[in-house]
Amino acid sequence: MAVWSVSRTLRGLLQAAGRGCSSGAPATLPRSGEPALQEAEVLSPAKRREFLRDHAAPFSAFLTDSFGRKHNYLRISLTEKCNLRCQYCMPEEGVPLTPKADLLTTREILTLSRLFVKEGVDKIRLTGGEPLIRPDVVDIVAQLQQLDGLKTIAITTNGINLARLLPRLQGAGLNAINISLDSLVPAKFEFIARRKGFHKVMEGIHKAIELGFDPVKVNCVVMRGLNEDELLDFVALSEGLPLDVRFIEYMPFHGNKWNFKKMVSYTEMLDMIHQRWPELEKLPEEASSTAKAFRVPGFRGQVSFITSMSEHFCGTCNRLRITADGNLKVCLFGNSEVSLRDHLRAGASEEELLSIIGAAVGRKKQQHAGMFNIAQMKNRPMILIGG
Ligand code: SAM
Ligand code: SF4
Repeated sequence: MAVWSVSRTLRGLLQAAGRGCSSGAPATLPRSGEPALQEAEVLSPAKRREFLRDHAAPFSAFLTDSFGRKHNYLRISLTEKCNLRCQYCMPEEGVPLTPKADLLTTREILTLSRLFVKEGVDKIRLTGGEPLIRPDVVDIVAQLQQLDGLKTIAITTNGINLARLLPRLQGAGLNAINISLDSLVPAKFEFIARRKGFHKVMEGIHKAIELGFDPVKVNCVVMRGLNEDELLDFVALSEGLPLDVRFIEYMPFHGNKWNFKKMVSYTEMLDMIHQRWPELEKLPEEASSTAKAFRVPGFRGQVSFITSMSEHFCGTCNRLRITADGNLKVCLFGNSEVSLRDHLRAGASEEELLSIIGAAVGRKKQQHAGMFNIAQMKNRPMILIGG
């Protein structure tokens, strides 16, 4: 049977049975007609592993799309506001902001998170806008930390407020961090971000290392004529520091003046790095990873490439996004959105929300439309999507 029909059938069966949740956790209940595992029965570790494998519940049908992709990773935008104005992310004139009353409240963020985690999401990334300008960000992390089954709580930040907040965020349960930095030259940083702040970001990166985050991921959007001449300096940073420097291909979003010629492709970047370090070696790929990772032998850290444009990774996409105004977005590059906020505020039950989420996930396309088509599409500016 084709993958899509298996998943459709599964979703249909669960919905028909009125089953609201099919957690990704291993089931300990036997299926009908199978022998029960007696509580007192003592199994050897190997037998226990075998039992758990044979009785694992299927991943939530609501979070599984028509192509069999299981969405266990949720990115939540905490705000549309930002204290920087990066050229590639937002237009110079800024973006019209959603009125506060239309943004998700903290309680709504936690209600939705709880629902997604119950369904099998085990990683949540807080993003934005700039998540660290939300006054209750530490509290949100602390409450997420209470959710059973959530293994990773991550943040993507521009680093401006990081050094000050990181000890409290880590204490509250934050266990993964990505810090954006597009230039190692303070004046150029200021030109790209249209604001000062280079030294604060560097301070944030060093604080993350000092507090033991390993790796500390550094996101660098590479643009021709702006910072591609710094590629080797960024790689050199990974020599003595436990960094994963991630070079991101410049992506088109509404208002960011993307143009094919400004995009430096993965293969071009790799060539430049190979010329300086021919011994650069490829590292094994992790499942669902969006990054192609490499290391210069002997270096403490590594470098990676996010090739969303030249070699998309839609086939293994496991991500869903919730925007700050509460829309579920199943694809970063798709413009279809459904308002979970409106359904929540209209009093939708958990089952109703799940069937709305399941329908949106079920409509997810196999892959994005290709970089040239994306550039023509009407999509929100990146700052309103949440990266
Ligand atoms: N403000 C935070 C930050 O800058 O890290 C979080 C939000 S930002 C939208 C998330 C990530 O998206 C950042 O690493 C940023 O560099 C990346 N990003 C934004 N616009 C992009 C674009 N046009 N192409 C590629 N990456 C982009
Ligand atoms: Fe702000 Fe991040 Fe966008 Fe830069 S990339 S303007 S820091 S949201």
